[in-house]
Amino acid sequence: MKKPERSSWKLDTLLVHSTEQDHVTEATGMPTVQPIYASTTYLHRDTEALDHALGGALPSGEQAYAYARQGNPNAHALENILCQAEAGTGAVVFGSGMAAIHAALLAAGLTPGSKILAAQDLYGTTITLLRKILMPGGVEVVLCDLYGTDAAARIEEEQPDVVYVETLSNPLVKLIDLDTISAAASKVGAVSIVDSTFTTPYLVRPIEHGFDLVVHSATKYMGGHGDSTAGVVISAKNALLDLLRTYVNMLGAMLSPFESHLIMRGLKTLTLRMERQCDNALQVARFLQRHPAVECVHYPGLPGHPQHELASHLLEHGRFGGLLAFELKEQSRAAAFCFMDNLQLCLRAATLGDVYSQVSYPPIASHRNLTESERQNMGITDGCIRLSIGIENVEDIINDLDQALTSS
Ligand SMILES: *Cc1c(COP(=O)(O)O)cnc(C)c1O
Repeated sequence: MKKPERSSWKLDTLLVHSTEQDHVTEATGMPTVQPIYASTTYLHRDTEALDHALGGALPSGEQAYAYARQGNPNAHALENILCQAEAGTGAVVFGSGMAAIHAALLAAGLTPGSKILAAQDLYGTTITLLRKILMPGGVEVVLCDLYGTDAAARIEEEQPDVVYVETLSNPLVKLIDLDTISAAASKVGAVSIVDSTFTTPYLVRPIEHGFDLVVHSATKYMGGHGDSTAGVVISAKNALLDLLRTYVNMLGAMLSPFESHLIMRGLKTLTLRMERQCDNALQVARFLQRHPAVECVHYPGLPGHPQHELASHLLEHGRFGGLLAFELKEQSRAAAFCFMDNLQLCLRAATLGDVYSQVSYPPIASHRNLTESERQNMGITDGCIRLSIGIENVEDIINDLDQALTSS
């Protein structure tokens, strides 16, 4: 059978056809969906073949399996598709986003005495990982505002070994200027890492903007249905990839065959969900902007947003993501709780990126380990609410927000 020219396919086509396998012959009948390989061990023809498999590959260069912690066919298929989706040289999947981030930081070379410069508004657990695991191991951690025009100057001044950012910040959805940051990192010889969970390869592929490593919590948009926990690191360089493979094995962070299957199934509808979620989010942002109970809305898709121009240039498809934040006129914890309790459709949840619309209050969720003044310094007020917009009918989402704002 002649193989289709996959390399020319667009992202939506690629993801839909991601699991067709040619490992079963035409004669036996080919499943359209890859079977879930629940085996921990793989048997080989003879001991020499087992020897090659334990080394990770056959003499032909084909992937070989021996023991599930080193890899499994479902995880491997997922790695291949995510590598293509992000235009990398290879990818490694992990049991969670945090496991992926940990391995990416180690692969980037954070040894005692080295220095990481990171954006101050990182995902809370990532900051905790830097503080509780890397700092005691002798890594110098510098957090600063990398969203402003002086970001390149800060990198040059600090001379870090690793630069770590997120494409969009949480909860205020500030956008990173990927090209400027990667160029500044490369100038000082630093490895650049970006967490692209909020944007997904549908909106931007950071390797094309010069990044060395891209990480995702696949638990969010990639899986999309709130039923599986996973992470991935995509590398632009082979040397980093070898280190990632070593770490996933040593740290025992391999993604299971079943979770790999669920993420793979989620990916088939990623572009459809993103289209709908981004379009819904823009309509919700416009609605909130006009609402008398709302002080202001943070969403880069709004023309008045300070980064609207950068977002229009960096993000593809004329879309701006499914996440937004807004501030209630009455900036208090009580008003925020009351608004959240009045919601009938939007779920009160700490996660994001699912098919459901979800609402989160940063002071009790992502930013609960910070003091009030630390939050204020980051621009997160007591009236700040984060929304992850789902794929529901947008009128229902807007009606729900409206009734909760009005009865608060
Ligand atoms: C959720 C999240 C993570 C952590 O991922 P897990 O899959 O929960 O381990 C990291 N970064 C961002 C931006 C996230 O939203």
